[in-house]
Amino acid sequence: MAEVHVRKLHKAFPDGTVAVEELDLEIKDGELFVMLGPSGCGKTTTLRCIAGLEEETSGQIQIGDEVVSGLRPSERDIAMVFQFYALYPHLTVRENMAFPLRAAKRPEAEINERVAEAARMLQLEPYLTRTPSKLSGGEQQRVALGRAMVRHPKAFLMDEPLTNLDAELRADMRAEVKHLQQRLNATMIYVTHDQTEAMALGDRIAIMNKGNLEQLGAPMEVYNRPASLFAARFIGSPPMNLIEAEVTNGHLTAAGGLQMTAPEGLSRGQKVIAGVRPENFTISATGDGVQGRIVSREALGDETIFVVECQAGLFHVRMPATARFDEEQVVAVRHVGVAPPAYDPTTEKVVSA
Ligand code: ATP
Repeated sequence: MAEVHVRKLHKAFPDGTVAVEELDLEIKDGELFVMLGPSGCGKTTTLRCIAGLEEETSGQIQIGDEVVSGLRPSERDIAMVFQFYALYPHLTVRENMAFPLRAAKRPEAEINERVAEAARMLQLEPYLTRTPSKLSGGEQQRVALGRAMVRHPKAFLMDEPLTNLDAELRADMRAEVKHLQQRLNATMIYVTHDQTEAMALGDRIAIMNKGNLEQLGAPMEVYNRPASLFAARFIGSPPMNLIEAEVTNGHLTAAGGLQMTAPEGLSRGQKVIAGVRPENFTISATGDGVQGRIVSREALGDETIFVVECQAGLFHVRMPATARFDEEQVVAVRHVGVAPPAYDPTTEKVVSA
């Protein structure tokens, strides 16, 4: 497997649309690197430039030791798996997986060996003689993965490969992709707009916004400390509570007297937006905190999400399922845990240390 370097990638389409502004990414050898962002942020275009399916307007792509800009996709030694797995309907599972090797005119013995290896790893052995129409969606997606694997590529490029599967199968396949990537020690670039998928899969996550890199970090880094309000809104479900506050003596204070631990690096009187995860608020029937009224609640089994209206706004609060409060009940809301990140209201970037 190989590292992938994206240097100052810029892609403008002939109609003037700029899909990628100027992107620098260093994907490590054996890394599962997730590109996450809303529709239209430039994820797919970046992936297609790496694959050679789009030509970059400027910038450079390097895979392993080789600068591949200008090379055809077939010369780049990478494998792509798409949302639409596009299996050949008239070919068996075995022949679908063998296809790229036959196209590359590999010897029959090598083809048999590699298909058998992929079928074993993906538990597709019972299905080798079936055609795709006789397989479930998950099995078809495994065949598509197998077809990518047999080539022993330098890197796997995955573009929303699980989007078409139902929720349960998606979670199973997600675990399978991660397990497979680890067993193969594969370099994998995985594009998704689903933050849960990104958090579950990624060694690192690149959050993209309008053709630019918004933040790059390990999943818990981007979860605990989003670099901008955009990243704060994008990661986490329900998302971070974003609260206008002012730095007072040792605290961030919001409307109605709601207080949060102040992070380092701010000056007294500074106006910021505090980012508080729903699990960093707690509510009680009586006790410390500011007054709030429960507007709605969503029972998730092991926990309940309460929406609480306070003077400082509507907050999501995550509580264990044992916490029982009624709608319309007046409760005390309190901030718990670590100091929240604070954002400059104008630049929308994090300002706390
Ligand atoms: P999605 O998740 O919806 O696929 P994305 O983040 O992958 O979104 P891209 O497909 O990379 O986004 O598109 C980035 C921008 O480039 C969008 O504004 C899109 O409309 C535009 N775009 C993509 N392909 C072309 C094209 N061939 N011609 C002109 N504009 C294009």
